Amino acid sequence: MGNVVAIIGRPNVGKSTLFNRLTETRQAIVDEMSGVTRDRHYGKVNWIGKDFSLIDTGGYIQGSDDVFEEEIRKQVKIAINEADLLLFMVDVKEGATPLDEEVANILRRCKKEVLLVANKADNGARSAQAGEFYSLGLGEVYPISSVNGSGTGELLDKIIESLNFDDVVEVDEDVPKVSIIGKPNVGKSSLINSLIGEDRNIVTSIAGTTRDTLHVRYKLFGNDVILVDTAGIRKKAKVNEDIEFYSVMRSIKAIEGSDVCIIVVDATLGMEAQDMSIFGMIEKNKKGVVIFVNKWDLVEKSTNTMKEFEELIKERLAPFTDVPVVFGSALNKQRLIKLLEVVKQVYENKTKKIGTSELNNFFQPLMEAYPPPSQKGKYIQIKYVTQLPTKTPSFAFFCNLPQYVQASYARFLENKLREKYDFTGIPVQIFFRKK
Ligand code: GDP
Ligand code: GDP
Repeated sequence: MGNVVAIIGRPNVGKSTLFNRLTETRQAIVDEMSGVTRDRHYGKVNWIGKDFSLIDTGGYIQGSDDVFEEEIRKQVKIAINEADLLLFMVDVKEGATPLDEEVANILRRCKKEVLLVANKADNGARSAQAGEFYSLGLGEVYPISSVNGSGTGELLDKIIESLNFDDVVEVDEDVPKVSIIGKPNVGKSSLINSLIGEDRNIVTSIAGTTRDTLHVRYKLFGNDVILVDTAGIRKKAKVNEDIEFYSVMRSIKAIEGSDVCIIVVDATLGMEAQDMSIFGMIEKNKKGVVIFVNKWDLVEKSTNTMKEFEELIKERLAPFTDVPVVFGSALNKQRLIKLLEVVKQVYENKTKKIGTSELNNFFQPLMEAYPPPSQKGKYIQIKYVTQLPTKTPSFAFFCNLPQYVQASYARFLENKLREKYDFTGIPVQIFFRKK
């Protein structure tokens, strides 16, 4: 928890260029393996062994030029409330503009930590110009060039130093932390209300709480669950709920605090772009996932409706087809017990550990029968496989030439693993390492 970084600033200062630079290397590899479309506004960054979430707020600005400034003001306010650290980006080529000064005024009065990033400092002379931004009264200025990368290492060091990685929630290890997420009006609050009834089922009111998320332990239809509430899924902040950026920030925090995420999808709308982007966030955070198709009561049904609906969803999710889909109704309390059972199963899948000898007994004959195709005349030999001690299942295949193993072969191994062991709802990672 506590590691969501938002890049704010007016258009054209270079926010998306920095976002791409910081997320690209790692994301490109992950996305190539998974086949997922790259999210241009939300990504995970890893620097010296620490992960944080990075958001390019510019990506969530809608509207024409005349509504721009108002939109930016709104976003800055949301970012102040919702992010853990703000990167306020300005442009050394342009100098401080009136809008920069206005944003700086808001930021000076807020309690959130802000790093003032002076972009387009491509050379020494430009770097020197960055000094003028001290006048914004936000302290240290970090000159960087998003295009050539200079200064970004220092900036990353400072980001890691500023974030609080110890702010983790201490809760019972055996009880799954579950969040209910989705775009506005799909039925999230209805679902929570139907699940917990009149708060009668609370076991401990606060098992672990950080600044923004509340973890409450419940016994729901006999199942122990810790619900992750981002302070107000039920009590909605009406002013903000329709702003995509706001719901994205809320979703990220809920996802980071959970083991298993329930994505609520509106059956009358199907799986839309915003649902897909939420799915991508869960995937990037390596959390378990269950799709709950809500408002199923509103759909006219014939024999195959459910099957066809599920196939449509899986087509959109490809290649992540090993995801459970539950159809029901929050309002009519239909299939909620089923939903909880599936959540429990996904949590068990997430915590599953397979012994090294068992894994090798399974994979050795398979890899002998279907060895990795040779690359550039080189033969790849996989010696053995072991599960790594990570929170979400990951497997290391030790071999002579890890760099030559193709993504398609990794997918083949992953599929075999999923056929043999149940990893439904879990993003499994496969690594190749040098023996
Ligand atoms: P955004 O609207 O804030 O996301 O800005 P963009 O990332 O789209 O960048 C706006 C323009 O500035 C593009 O033409 C970029 O190529 C350019 N740009 C971004 N970063 C740098 C930089 O470090 N140096 C220079 N010279 N140009 C940059
Ligand atoms: P949220 O914004 O995702 O929290 O959505 P709400 O829980 O506020 O629900 C939005 C609307 O959908 C409300 O009018 C609910 O009554 C309605 N709704 C929620 N679940 C169901 C359902 O299962 N069936 C039907 N027909 N309506 C539902």
